[in-house]
Amino acid sequence: MMGETKARVRIGELADGRAVHRCLLRGGGLEAEVLDFGGILAALRVPTRGGVRNVVLGFDTLADYLRHHPYLGTLIGRYANRIAHGRFTLDGVTHRLPVGPDGHHLHGGPQGFHRALWTIAEQGPDTLSLRHFSPDGDQGYPGNLHVTVRYTLTAERALCIDYEASCDRATVVNFTHHAYFNLGGEPGGTVHDHRLELAADRYTPTDEHLIPTGEIAPVAGTPLDFTRPRAIGEGLVRLEAGYDHNYVLGEAMAAAPRYAGRLTAPDGATTMEVWTTEPGLQLYTANFLHLDSPFPRHGAVCLETQHFPDSPNRPQFPSTVLRPGALFRSRTLYRFV
Ligand code: BGC
Repeated sequence: MMGETKARVRIGELADGRAVHRCLLRGGGLEAEVLDFGGILAALRVPTRGGVRNVVLGFDTLADYLRHHPYLGTLIGRYANRIAHGRFTLDGVTHRLPVGPDGHHLHGGPQGFHRALWTIAEQGPDTLSLRHFSPDGDQGYPGNLHVTVRYTLTAERALCIDYEASCDRATVVNFTHHAYFNLGGEPGGTVHDHRLELAADRYTPTDEHLIPTGEIAPVAGTPLDFTRPRAIGEGLVRLEAGYDHNYVLGEAMAAAPRYAGRLTAPDGATTMEVWTTEPGLQLYTANFLHLDSPFPRHGAVCLETQHFPDSPNRPQFPSTVLRPGALFRSRTLYRFV
């Protein structure tokens, strides 16, 4: 994919003949490649002290993205993370969603946003706006839902992702981005020597299926504590299954993005800060990446800003309900310093 300079190229088509495009954005010294299929961030090139690096894992061909893969660089919706037993009740009506082998719903279902062909609503040199219509009943979710996601490369060397959604019937929404970050510039390596800080002193404990127990617990004294920067590998030694945990950034959505954490390359050549309006962040150390991709286990880290898992069944968590007439808005920035 490297070396392409055209702002938009057709890279192939889906089984039903619809064309898929790759868009190139440039801004603030950064360069991003985004597909209209799945809203996939296929590359993010960043100038670092060690030269220009692509800091996200991506595949080379559309065929790779059309196969089953672990949400490599995709948008996620309608609901990121898990909904227990693929079931929730809203305004007295129980809705059923597709479940995986563990009996729970994950990342919006098999035909979620990650497999949708989004409409390119607007493209500029440093910005791309993608639109998607998810009809009533799509993957079991109620209400017609209109979603817009805008990617912008800002002058402050950030990739800014803006989400907007509206519906015509009460529903639940929880969007995230599933970029696999590796700041080392070598896609075959692991993130063990990346240093991570998270602005969260609490997390939502889960059962063995990663369904929240409903508690909110302190990270202090556990391998989950990243309140001070430390190497990801240090904690992994004590946490065999790897990190797959939702951290609490706040009690509710913030009006403006707040600092969520920072990730530093092993050689210190670049640091990526995360800022978000979302109340949670799922730290996922690509524990299953090797199963469905050529990349190694722990070959990247996902910093998925979102609401808490299973919120539709957990009234004590920040609400994920969206009602007609309301506009859902959320913003996340990945900024390179
Ligand atoms: C989840 C993991 C899941 C992965 C799939 C992450 O967001 O937290 O549990 O296996 O996505 O790629």
